Amino acid sequence: MKGRKLLMIPGPIEFEPDVLQALGTATTSHVDPNFIEVFGKSLELMREVWKSPKGQPFIVSGTGTLAMDMAAANLIEKGDAVLVISTGYFGKRFKDISDRYGANTTILEAPLGEVVSLQEIEKELRNKHYKVMTITHVDTSTGVRVDPKPIAKLAQKYNTLSVLDGVCSVAGEDIKQDEWGIDVVLTGSQKAIGVPPGLALQMVSEKAMEIWKNRKTPVSNYYSDWNNWLPVMKAYEERKPSYFGTPPVNLIVALETSLQIICKEGMSERINRHQVLAKAFRAGIKSLQLETIANSEEIAANTLTAAYYPKGIDGGELLKKIAKNDVIIAGGLLSEIKTTYFRIGHMGSVSANDLIAVLSALEKALLELGHNIVPGKSLETFQEELLRSKQSKNKRYNNDRFIITDWDL
Ligand code: PMP
Repeated sequence: MKGRKLLMIPGPIEFEPDVLQALGTATTSHVDPNFIEVFGKSLELMREVWKSPKGQPFIVSGTGTLAMDMAAANLIEKGDAVLVISTGYFGKRFKDISDRYGANTTILEAPLGEVVSLQEIEKELRNKHYKVMTITHVDTSTGVRVDPKPIAKLAQKYNTLSVLDGVCSVAGEDIKQDEWGIDVVLTGSQKAIGVPPGLALQMVSEKAMEIWKNRKTPVSNYYSDWNNWLPVMKAYEERKPSYFGTPPVNLIVALETSLQIICKEGMSERINRHQVLAKAFRAGIKSLQLETIANSEEIAANTLTAAYYPKGIDGGELLKKIAKNDVIIAGGLLSEIKTTYFRIGHMGSVSANDLIAVLSALEKALLELGHNIVPGKSLETFQEELLRSKQSKNKRYNNDRFIITDWDL
């Protein structure tokens, strides 16, 4: 028996052995030439993953919330109008942060399981000038995915800075920061980036940096102030030593390893793997008569799935039974429906085998609790859906016959 359980919550995730090994290497000085190279390379690789050749990357010790806090602290001045587009718990968090910096915040909240329509967003932008707009790409509390591209386009049209909370999406969902004109894309290390918790990562556009430089008032949060971090990021990228706060050396060594793995896989391959696995997984979940919180396939996240417990099933018991089968999944997060649903992360190094293990453990637990399902149903559905995706991707006609050329995912 394996000594540990499979961690399938929406972050922290299962990490690559090479990343964990990198984390465990002897800590060097933060101005050691080898570390300077690793830090500099990490900043460069972030630009590839974010698809932001022109962006200014920041790597700071902290969590995803710090990355949100830094974006707000640096871009918002007292009295600025901020528009928050919310699809759940983390949208509301952005409102709290924005309020804390004295903004005049308006929140557009999507109905549960849905997204805010573009018409509604445009109506708001037309009526009032907003300096900043925040968007949660994937709200981890609902598993709802927003398409940031048209929203960022609207933000540009109305001269509003767009800030994308990509904590549950960067390196797992499609993002083309520069092409789509998003001003800040931020994340934490513990999700699809594939590094243990502890890094706040941001990529900031030239336009946002310019607006920040022209602030009328100083940034009110000392630790978050880009003034303190920008010289450090610039120095390391030029392979020079620098200091503001001691960098988390081992986490950054692990980050460089993970970013190399991500870039080696290739962004389009990686995003495709997330999409194919997520679609097949949702099909498996639905075959067990479970309903996802996301109301349609078009807005369902590819990094996690949130689904309601079946009627009459005790959620706590279900999670306990799944854990007994060596799989750890998460309960609900959104307070209104917290006890009625559960969440499964499928991002980063996730494989088909991991998801088969989840479905198998879930089926077994549901059967034990008396849910009326056919054993093996979700596994069959998952495999069929994977096969369908692969056939449509790889079909080559040869004398009117399918030849499947690539079975790897
Ligand atoms: N935004 C989103 C979408 C998240 O999923 C999370 C973490 N689950 C956060 C922000 C906050 O990140 P952290 O827990 O690392 O502070």
